Amino acid sequence: MEPIISIKNLYKNYGKKEVLKGINLDIYPGQVIGYIGPNGAGKSTTVKILCGLLPDYRGEVIIKGLNLKTDSIQIKRLLGYVPELAELYEVLTPAEFLSLVGDLYELPPETTKTRMEKILAALDLKDNLHQRMDTFSKGMKQKVLIASALIHNPEIIILDEPLNGLDANTVIIIKHLISNLAKEGKTIFYCSHMMDIVEKVSEKIVLINDGRVVANGTFLELKDQLGDKSLEQMFAGLTSGNSLSGAAEEIILAMNQ
Ligand code: ADP
Ligand code: MG
Repeated sequence: MEPIISIKNLYKNYGKKEVLKGINLDIYPGQVIGYIGPNGAGKSTTVKILCGLLPDYRGEVIIKGLNLKTDSIQIKRLLGYVPELAELYEVLTPAEFLSLVGDLYELPPETTKTRMEKILAALDLKDNLHQRMDTFSKGMKQKVLIASALIHNPEIIILDEPLNGLDANTVIIIKHLISNLAKEGKTIFYCSHMMDIVEKVSEKIVLINDGRVVANGTFLELKDQLGDKSLEQMFAGLTSGNSLSGAAEEIILAMNQ
């Protein structure tokens, strides 16, 4: 089987600072990839490149046989993206915002309307469809963003820290949603700096640190390779030189000085 996303020798720098240092990754249709690593590792930079938002990268990205350098518009049609930082037009209502998104993807307005009503009802936002989003909580805005990434029924869904601000019940919905989308054949690229639900929903875990892939495999393969118990322990072992419990002690000590 051909990979649906193939990343070869991906490098990216911001000015003099190199933040991606040769990422290589093949992702196959229907896979759920947990792309995890500490703050600043380069996760959001990687997915912004995949979404065509940062054209000045080096290396090669092929998505469904299309080259990101030359076919960025066609690739955008295949992708749904929940960005890390919500840039919502807060003066709009969810209905207005999602209509705009539907129009951008050239969906028939009736289709957009039906889909948005059903998706937002499932996320418990039915009563807020026609309310301006400037009054919304972070979690409510996050739900609208999730809806906007799904409304055009994309083949590839990229989630950058999607649980930001969501309550426990919605986290459970998202967990089931990811599993079910994968069963439908969708490919999911899930970025997180935390273990949260990654361990449970991901078929494959890609651990990145300082712009490099430091581990790549199923949870069981990683466990075998590293001999550690939980993903959290592996994560700490691969990405932190310092004692994490020591850091907590140092904070308490500093507070008492
Ligand atoms: P992650 O999502 O894994 O937390 P990012 O991809 O957001 O990490 O960031 C990787 C590195 O790139 C960090 O050191 C960050 O400070 C830097 N960085 C991100 N965006 C910019 C930018 N627009 N300009 C300069 N540096 C940036
Ligand atoms: Mg990030």
